[in-house]
Amino acid sequence: MAWVEAASSDEPGRRRYRLLNPASLESVGEFDALGEAEVHAAVERARKAWPQWAALEFDERGRYLQRAVAHLIAHQDEFVDVIVRETGKPTVEAFASEILAACDALTFYAKRARRILTDRTLPVHLVKNKKLRISYRPLGVVGIITPWNFPFLLSLNPTAQALMAGNAVILKPSEVTAFSGRLLADLFEAVGLPDGVFQVLLGDGETGRALCESGVDKISFTGSVATGRRVGEICGRNLVPCTLELGGKDPMIVCADADLERAANGAVFGAFANAGQVCISTERVYVHEDVADEFTRKVVAKTGELRQGVGGEIDVGCMITPTQLEIVQQHVDDAVAHGARLLAGGRRNPAYEGLFFEPTVLADVTHDMKVMREETFGPVLPIMRVRDEATAVGLANDSAYGLNASVWTRDKRKGVEMAKQIEAGAVVVNDCMVTYGVTEAPFGGRKDSGLGQVNGEIGLRSYCHAQAILVDRFGGKSEGNWYPHTGRKLNRMKRVVRWLWGTPLGRWLS
Ligand code: NAD
Repeated sequence: MAWVEAASSDEPGRRRYRLLNPASLESVGEFDALGEAEVHAAVERARKAWPQWAALEFDERGRYLQRAVAHLIAHQDEFVDVIVRETGKPTVEAFASEILAACDALTFYAKRARRILTDRTLPVHLVKNKKLRISYRPLGVVGIITPWNFPFLLSLNPTAQALMAGNAVILKPSEVTAFSGRLLADLFEAVGLPDGVFQVLLGDGETGRALCESGVDKISFTGSVATGRRVGEICGRNLVPCTLELGGKDPMIVCADADLERAANGAVFGAFANAGQVCISTERVYVHEDVADEFTRKVVAKTGELRQGVGGEIDVGCMITPTQLEIVQQHVDDAVAHGARLLAGGRRNPAYEGLFFEPTVLADVTHDMKVMREETFGPVLPIMRVRDEATAVGLANDSAYGLNASVWTRDKRKGVEMAKQIEAGAVVVNDCMVTYGVTEAPFGGRKDSGLGQVNGEIGLRSYCHAQAILVDRFGGKSEGNWYPHTGRKLNRMKRVVRWLWGTPLGRWLS
């Protein structure tokens, strides 16, 4: 049994996949993976469509996105149905993290792109006879490759940014959630986006690799570290800019002065939302020894109240694939074999046929265990007692990953200072997993968690080249550093250097 399995295609040499609902194991449908020739044809179509799209005013582009929001609102139940069927997410979770967040992303960039991307002039500190203008030029054709864990939002959010920045977009969604990816094609077709401006290519890793090699002008990749490295290698070889949004192993630090009720609620949500299959899931907890027992007791009690199941009012959904389920079981078994105490869960949920893993809490874990070092990407919350906050920060940083983190304390100033000590792309004080939902916040990992940032002003601008346009202000027949090179010029330059960086007035002016 598999969530996505090879099926036989009528066309020789064509790869075909059959998708199954991981919660109910019912069939979802089949699709053919597109090959290299189709990828190249799509890039050509995009190249033709791009100039007219790039020439539109921001408001004109924004109107398409606003219409997409109206379409999403009108068809939200149909969209959620497809996502739930393909991922086994609880409906509330799918609605909040996919539809609600998508409406926000579309509206945010439709309304703000003009302000963020309009040409601006910058004062020039030294070469006063030049005027500097920064013009955010669209890159051309952007390839977007996305994972299965938030198949709609993680495809739509970068697409909205790339389109508003004036690019044509080719999306290659995950083969595990191909039909959720195809929803974007339906959405933009419904709002009449000009032909070729946005295309969805259903396919697998080979299709993704072909897109990376196809000569697009940027790759925006979200997925695992292993694939991210491959994508980065191709982009490096071809000198194509890319952002790599990769995996994480997010630490949570609970200080002795934390609001333990809030921290325990946050830990349970942070670890088990989307069945732990979130790049910014809480995957490690470091709790001060003075409050460790009480915190752990609360976490275990709250974990016991969570409901799993297929459909209806459920809290924790299923794993997406059998492979993912096996990894989770391996991490739990490895931890227990090395001395961890299992306080809740610990196994595949026997009540269901689908790929459900019970919400799991582990105590007495150490950094010698896989569960504290490798991305688990499942509903597992390992808790480690620590002597003090400095030890917690040290352990939080003892990781190859650096995506997000959280610090829990009643002293917000201390929380911010601790956040700065943590090697992570973003840190939340007294909350968790919220960074991607705050559209203004730049999002991107450090260390193995990735390269570059998406979202907010930085993210939107990353779909452009910030072109410097320098305009000479006063004219004249020549400039001080132009030919001919003479001894007199050299002496004058020496005097300028001595005065500008060698005297108090010069230093003040420079
Ligand atoms: P994955 O790396 O297996 O696949 C991601 C995408 O890459 C898919 O569309 C896949 O078809 C494509 N792909 C596979 N091989 C390729 C190749 N050689 N060249 C180009 N494309 C290729 O990841 P996944 O299992 O779908 O997603 C889970 C991972 O994604 C986790 O590690 C998770 O932490 C990470 N993730 C990161 C973020 C973030 O923003 N940092 C967000 C969500 C998920």
